[in-house]
Amino acid sequence: MYRNMVEWRDQNPPPATMMIISNQVGSQFSWDLVRLQQRTLYNLFLAYSVRPVFSIVLSTSQEWRWKELLQNKRSAPLVVVQGAKLYCKSCNYGSQRLKKFRKHLSSYNHAREEGVTTVYTNVERVTADWGRNYKATPEFATAKIQVWWDMFDCPIPQGYDARQVRPSIEAAFKELGYSGPVSITAYGDHKHTPLQALSSTGVHVAHAVPGVEYKRMAGNVREWHADNPPQTAAIMMVISDNVDIISIGLVKLLQENKYNLFLAYSFRPYQMSYLLTSAEWLWESLLAGPLTKHSLLSESESSVSTAMFHCKLCRFDTISIDNFRAHLLSDEKHAQEVSIL
Ligand SMILES: [Zn+2]
Ligand SMILES: [Zn+2]
Repeated sequence: MYRNMVEWRDQNPPPATMMIISNQVGSQFSWDLVRLQQRTLYNLFLAYSVRPVFSIVLSTSQEWRWKELLQNKRSAPLVVVQGAKLYCKSCNYGSQRLKKFRKHLSSYNHAREEGVTTVYTNVERVTADWGRNYKATPEFATAKIQVWWDMFDCPIPQGYDARQVRPSIEAAFKELGYSGPVSITAYGDHKHTPLQALSSTGVHVAHAVPGVEYKRMAGNVREWHADNPPQTAAIMMVISDNVDIISIGLVKLLQENKYNLFLAYSFRPYQMSYLLTSAEWLWESLLAGPLTKHSLLSESESSVSTAMFHCKLCRFDTISIDNFRAHLLSDEKHAQEVSIL
C-alpha cells in the first residue's frame, strides 16, 4: 500500500488530496510520510479504527474514526460504479473480472506465493537517502532566509571573528544557489558576546539564558510564520544542537507551508530526524567555508547596522547598543526579573 502511495505521488503532482484508511499510519508510515509531506504538500485525510500514537507530527486536513465515517448520515445513496480494479499484490496479478480474480485467489500458484511471501515487515523508507545538500530550485533561489542561531550550543569558535558569521552563512547559501536576503537572530548570554561585531554586520541580538532560548525561539518562529504567507517560498535555518526541542512546531510549518529548512550543528545527530532539510552543515566547517579575508572586510565595511537588540528575559527592545548594554549590566529591575525565572 505504501509503495502504491509513493508511486501515486510521483504521477500526481499537487494540488491533490490523499486519503489513507489504515491503523498503520502512526507506526509504519509516519517517519517517511512526514518527510514526503514536507517536500511535496498534499492534502492528507486519515481514517482509522485505532487512533495512531505518533500522528502528532503528521499534519492532516481531517481525521476520522472509521466506524463514524461509515455511519455518516449525509452520505449519498448507493449506486453501482463500474471499473473497480482487482489486484493480488502478493503475486502482482491484476484483473478486471471478479470471476477470474476469485479463481486466482483460490489457485495453487497464489497459495504458493502467499506461502513464500515473508511476513509483512517495515515499509521501505523512500526518503532515507535524502540527506544531502540540495541546489536551489528557481522558486527558492531568491526566497528570503531567516536564521535562528543558538549561541549556547554553537558559539563562535576560538580563532573566528564574529563579523565572519553573516558572510559565512551567506556564502554557504550562495554555494547552493540561494541568494535571498538573510536575517539572523542570535540567542545568547549577550553580557559575554562580541555585541559590537555582531550588530555591525546586522545580526539581531536576543539576550536569553540557557533553557529559555528554545521557548523564545519557538515563539519567534511562530511570529515569523505569521509574516510569511503559506504559498510564498521562504527559508528557515536553525543553528543549534537541540533542534528536536522545537521540531514539532517546525515539522507542522514544513508540511503546511512552502518553507524549506536548513540546519547547522556542532556535531552530527546520531539518527536522521523526521524534519526534512534542504541542507545541513557542521557549524565550524560552515564558518571555515569558502570565505576570504577580503570578502570579510568588504562585507563588513559595506553593511549598515540595522540590528535590533532584544532582551528575551524581560521583553526589552532597542536599536541602541549602549541602551542595551546598560540594560543588561546595570538595570537592577532587569536583574530581579532574571532571578524570578
Ligand atoms: Zn495471488
Ligand atoms: Zn532584560
